[in-house]
Amino acid sequence: MDALIVPGGESTTLIKLMDAFDLWAPLREFAATGKPLLGTCAGMILLAGEVLNPPQRSLGLIDVTVERNSYGRQRESFEADGTFSPDGEEVDLHMVFIRAPRLVQLGPEVRSLASCRDDCVMARQDQVLVASFHPELCGDPAVHRYFLAMG
Ligand code: GLN
Repeated sequence: MDALIVPGGESTTLIKLMDAFDLWAPLREFAATGKPLLGTCAGMILLAGEVLNPPQRSLGLIDVTVERNSYGRQRESFEADGTFSPDGEEVDLHMVFIRAPRLVQLGPEVRSLASCRDDCVMARQDQVLVASFHPELCGDPAVHRYFLAMG
């Protein structure tokens, strides 16, 4: 495996599955190889250093604090145009937020790579990339292209 995506879904359910299948240590071992790791939405919650609303266990692989369900309930899910800024250039990107978590704090080693409605919505620390939206639904492979180039 050259790169790994931890997808969206429901982080509480994913935690139960990670317990049942003993995936905590293998995921940490994968991250320690330095291969690219992308967490989208619930996947971002699992990779975060700290989780709020409510606090829950996470892998702590990127120094960010995330607040679950921060944009409201399922019916407050929305699509919006944001800006993806890989390596200096700025690209417009349509973004899909599904009962999304919000990045509320970034550590000093973490870079913001995308924004939407004044929020940071994508962040990177070394080989770990997280997004509060769903890049696989935006109809543009820009984020995945960037992610694969991290390898
Ligand atoms: N609301 C979910 C959670 O808190 C995340 C939703 C998603 O991944 N689209 O885990």
